[in-house]
Amino acid sequence: MLPEQKDGKQVWRMIEVKSSTSVKDYHRDDVTVQAFVAQSAGVPLEAIALAHIDSSWIYPGNEDYQGLLKENDLTAEAFSRTDEVKGWIAQAQSIAAEPSEPAIGTGDHCGTPFECGFYDYCSRDEPKPEHPINWLPRFSSTKEKELTIKGVYDLKDVPDNLLNDKQQRVKDYTLANEVFSTLLVPQQIWLRMIFPPIFSTLKPSSSPYLSGKVPV
Ligand code: SF4
Repeated sequence: MLPEQKDGKQVWRMIEVKSSTSVKDYHRDDVTVQAFVAQSAGVPLEAIALAHIDSSWIYPGNEDYQGLLKENDLTAEAFSRTDEVKGWIAQAQSIAAEPSEPAIGTGDHCGTPFECGFYDYCSRDEPKPEHPINWLPRFSSTKEKELTIKGVYDLKDVPDNLLNDKQQRVKDYTLANEVFSTLLVPQQIWLRMIFPPIFSTLKPSSSPYLSGKVPV
């Protein structure tokens, strides 16, 4: 929250800082809700923006981080969605007022954009496979849903013809309880392992070690 002066009065400018490299839809919702809460609490909010990492920025060195964050003014959008937020609140309040919890099963909505904190509770009666299907890298959620409907929850029961090479490898090695490794690791990865600081670049939550590097 940044204090500013307008017509002799103090107003506020809010900047929500995210560690991503672009504005996501859920960021827009987040900013909209925050603007609504601040205004409803009587804060004279003049503007609201979302700042994220500028992935084209190059660290010049000397602890100069000017330009690392890219600011996006979302004031007009956030302020125009007040009725939408009121609708969300009314919906949430009517659900909270129900005598029992809604009968909604777990699914994609539990992990998008982040894993819901109630997942263990909501999935308490669901089968607990030893090797969950979601261990498969980039396995289509549609295929996973179709398998779930058929009662397939464990990797061992996933038909091989639904898997690509990498997924098949994950399945095979997982079920065999073996570690997969290859000597065909690209040279740069080996170099990273041997000289980690030299190849380090900025992570969203950290700082670059060397000048001339871009955030990744
Ligand atoms: S885990 Fe969260 S999102 Fe999924 S059904 Fe339960 S409350 Fe809803």
